[in-house]
Amino acid sequence: MTGPHPATPDPARARSERYGEVWDDYLLSRLLAGPEIDPAAVAVHTDRGSWTYGMLDREAERIARGLWALGVRDRDTIVVQLGNRIEFVTVCVAAFRIGAVPVLAMPSLRAVEIGRLVDATDAGALVIGGLVDGFDHRSLARSLGLRVPVVVAGEPEEFVALSELDGPDRQWLPADPGDVALVLLSGGTTDRPKLIPRTHQDYGFQLRATAQQLGVTRDWTYLAAVPVAHNAALGCPGVLGLLRLGGEVVLSPGPAPHQAFPLIGRHRRRPILTTLMPALLDIWTACSAYLEVDLTGTVVEVGGASMDRGRLAAAEAALGCVVTRWFGMAEGPLSFTRPGQPDRLDHEGRALSVLDEFRITDATHRPVRVGAWGQIEVRGPSTIRSYLGDHPANTTHFDAAGFFRTGDRGLIDAEGNLQVGGRIDDLINRGGEKIAPEDLEPQLRAAIGVDVAVAGRPDPLFGHRVVAFVAADAAGLDVDDVRRMLRERGVAEYKLPDELVVVSSLPRTAIGKIDRAALLAGLDDR
Ligand code: AMP
Repeated sequence: MTGPHPATPDPARARSERYGEVWDDYLLSRLLAGPEIDPAAVAVHTDRGSWTYGMLDREAERIARGLWALGVRDRDTIVVQLGNRIEFVTVCVAAFRIGAVPVLAMPSLRAVEIGRLVDATDAGALVIGGLVDGFDHRSLARSLGLRVPVVVAGEPEEFVALSELDGPDRQWLPADPGDVALVLLSGGTTDRPKLIPRTHQDYGFQLRATAQQLGVTRDWTYLAAVPVAHNAALGCPGVLGLLRLGGEVVLSPGPAPHQAFPLIGRHRRRPILTTLMPALLDIWTACSAYLEVDLTGTVVEVGGASMDRGRLAAAEAALGCVVTRWFGMAEGPLSFTRPGQPDRLDHEGRALSVLDEFRITDATHRPVRVGAWGQIEVRGPSTIRSYLGDHPANTTHFDAAGFFRTGDRGLIDAEGNLQVGGRIDDLINRGGEKIAPEDLEPQLRAAIGVDVAVAGRPDPLFGHRVVAFVAADAAGLDVDDVRRMLRERGVAEYKLPDELVVVSSLPRTAIGKIDRAALLAGLDDR
C-alpha cells in the first residue's frame, strides 16, 4: 500500500533551532502507555462504559496489528471519521504506533467531502462508524467505490469489522519527533482540501503547553462535548492532552445540554475542562433554567467564532463555571485567556507561548501600529509552515519568513492582548462551522442550474446564516428543495443554505468577482 509520504512540513533546521527549547521528543505513539501512565487508572468514560489505560493500550495494539495485516504501513494516511466514541482514541493511537497518519474527518462530512479527502491524501484506509444518528456511513463508503480497506466500528456489512482486526505481534519502529503525526482539516476548505500536517513535536508541545497554561493536571477531566476531530477538543489540551498527562477523558456523544449535563453531573468530583463554540454556550445557558446542572469547578474554553462579553458573563452566572476565551485554528495559532485572570471575558488573551509571534498587518502585510486593526499573522512552535502537498494556499497563506496569514481580522492592544473581529475574506462562520462560498457555489450551480452566490448573513445566535442568492426564479424552488438537492449530492448538512434569496442579477466588483458585500447590504433594504 502506498499512500503519499506526508512531507515533514518544515525540515528547515532554523525552525528546530528556534523552537528546540520547547519541543520535546514525546511521540504520540506513547499515548496510553509509558512510565508516567498507571495502566489501572481510568482513561476514558463514554455513555457505554469506562476504560482503563491498560485496556485501551491493549485495544490500540490489537488494532495496530490488524491494520498492519490489512496492509497499512508507516506514513500511509488513514481517513478516520468517527465521532466521540472510544474507537476514535484506539484507532488514532494504533495509527501513531504503526507510524501511519490519521486524517481526522468531522462526523458531519458527507460523500462529497470524504471522497475528496480520500483522494487528496491517497488514503491507505478509511475508518468509519456504521449507522450513526440515522446516517449510514457504509452507504457513503459504498457510493465512493473505494479500492482501499474500509474498516467499520459497528456492523461491517461487506467491509472489515474493527472489532475483528488482529494480526501477529510486531515491534513498531519509533517515528522521528519531526514527522507528521496527524492531519487536521482547515475549516471551510474547497474542492482541494487544505490538509494541515501536525508533527509529533508541534502537537506534543501544544498538548503540554495548553495544559500548563490553563493549570490543567492529571487530576483533571476533559469533557469532549464538541467533535473530537476538532483541534479545540482534540489537543488544547483536549482529549490527547489529558491522555498524555494520565488524566481522565469523558466523551459526550454531542454538545446538547441533555447529552453533556448528565455527564458533568456524574464526573464533577474532579475539576472539568470543556470546550464550546459561543452559540453552544448560549444554549447551555438557556437550558440551565430547565435542566439541573452545576458547573462549579468547570472551566469552559469558548472560541471558534466571535462572541459577546455580556453573554459570556451571563453564562458564568447561570452555570457557575469559569469561562475563558480562545482564538485558535487547526493550523496551530492559539491565543487565549487564562482561568484566573479577571479580564478573561474581555478579549482573546495572549499567545500560547512566549515563542509565538502574533502580529497585525495591513493589506501589504506590513505590521500596523499597536491597537490598529488588520490581519492576524502568526509564526510559532505550534503553527504550520505549509499545507500538505503543493496546495496553492502555500504561496498565498505563508510568507518567506514563515508567518502564517490567518485571514482573520484582529488587533493587539497596548497590554499585548488579542481581539478578534471577523474575517478579511468571505468565509462563513456558522456557529463555529466554516463554509467557503467558493465550495458551496459550484455545488449549488450544479444542483439548480442557475447562477448563484453564497454569503454569510450576520445572525445574533450563530454568527452567520448561510444565504444563497439565485439570479433567477429557479423554477419556483424554495430553500427546502435546494437543501434536499444538495443533500442528495452528498454535501454536508452544516453547509446547506438557511435562506434562498432571488435577485435580478449578481453584482460584480471592479475586478469581476461576485460582490457578496453588496448582496448582503441589499438584504437590509428588503
Ligand atoms: P478552524 O479552521 O475550524 O480551526 O477554525 C479557525 C477559525 O475560527 C479562525 O480562522 C477564525 O476565523 C475562527 N475563530 C476562532 N476563534 C475565534 C474567535 N475567538 N473569534 C472569532 N473567530 C474565531
